[in-house]
Amino acid sequence: PRLANQIAAGEVVERPASVIKELLENSLDAGASRIDIDTEQGGVKLLRVRDDGRGIVSDDLPLALSRHATSKIRDLDDLERVATLGFRGEALASVSSVSRLTLTSCAEGEDQAWQVETEGREMSPNVQPAAHPRGTTVEVRDLFFNTPARRKFLRTEKTEFGHLEEVVKRLALSRFDVAFNLRHNGRSVLGLRPAHTEQEARRRVGSVCGPAFVEQSLTIDAERSGLRLWGWVGLPTFSRSQADLQYFFVNGRMIKDKLVAHAVRQAYRDVLFNGRHPTFVLFLEVDPAVVDVNVHPTKHEVRFRDGRMVHDFLFSTLYRALAEQRPGERVD
Ligand code: ADP
Ligand code: MG
Repeated sequence: PRLANQIAAGEVVERPASVIKELLENSLDAGASRIDIDTEQGGVKLLRVRDDGRGIVSDDLPLALSRHATSKIRDLDDLERVATLGFRGEALASVSSVSRLTLTSCAEGEDQAWQVETEGREMSPNVQPAAHPRGTTVEVRDLFFNTPARRKFLRTEKTEFGHLEEVVKRLALSRFDVAFNLRHNGRSVLGLRPAHTEQEARRRVGSVCGPAFVEQSLTIDAERSGLRLWGWVGLPTFSRSQADLQYFFVNGRMIKDKLVAHAVRQAYRDVLFNGRHPTFVLFLEVDPAVVDVNVHPTKHEVRFRDGRMVHDFLFSTLYRALAEQRPGERVD
């Protein structure tokens, strides 16, 4: 089983960023309202995620680290309408097979916290009492310490941390209601309080994307035939040389999609200089019945039932908003 876990780990765990993604999704699934992330050396030495979610009861702690032990699917019906972010039940098992992992949790309704530790091996569980407020902390140390081949593929500390930070930013933009704190080598990198008002949401976008982006962007909020698009698009003056400030969420889930990219590019076509990339943080809300979010863990794709309608809606909304900023521009 250790080998099986390590093979599975190859699919889920590519680098510190992929570990953080799984841990954060678990915290969100557990209903956390605050998530604190501590990292060292690009996440290779240490990744620690602490949340204030529902927690895991002591009996379930060893289970949470065993393969295909998900608490999130009980039957096939559940599988059909997976609402939670994680449901494969192998992330923690995989991560624990390639690191030194400590899982500490105090479950809702329990008066004591418990802890299990693993060190890159199939767990022979030893559940110990621990001190922890309600919620869960997963600490992952020395990622890939026992799989040198995989360790070799890691890039510099700066690059790995960049990927990791990007994962945190995406999730922070997808959940304004949750507080996120990110530290790297003891230094605070992101400190995001919950954002409930529009003002607070704006501030969060500023913290994540830089204040210049919100200052030089248009606020979008449009609705048509069951579709709602809201968020911020950078003015043409705030374009970038890289396509690195482009966040698009469908029903709260970040996606990268050709149809979406095309609609946005089209809307900017006449106003952007050659080689520049539009910037945006946009949220599309649609009836879940008309969209298939690809459930593959590492892909960010969607399939719209009526792609043309979505494309038209995106294009015309953004085009109008941008054209209004430029008097005399033709509006189709
Ligand atoms: P999955 O998320 O696909 O179920 P994981 O391996 O990521 O599988 O997690 C296994 C199980 O451990 C989850 O189903 C959940 O019950 C529990 N778990 C993991 N992280 C947390 C957390 N932060 N808070 C509460 N429960 C958690
Ligand atoms: Mg999970």
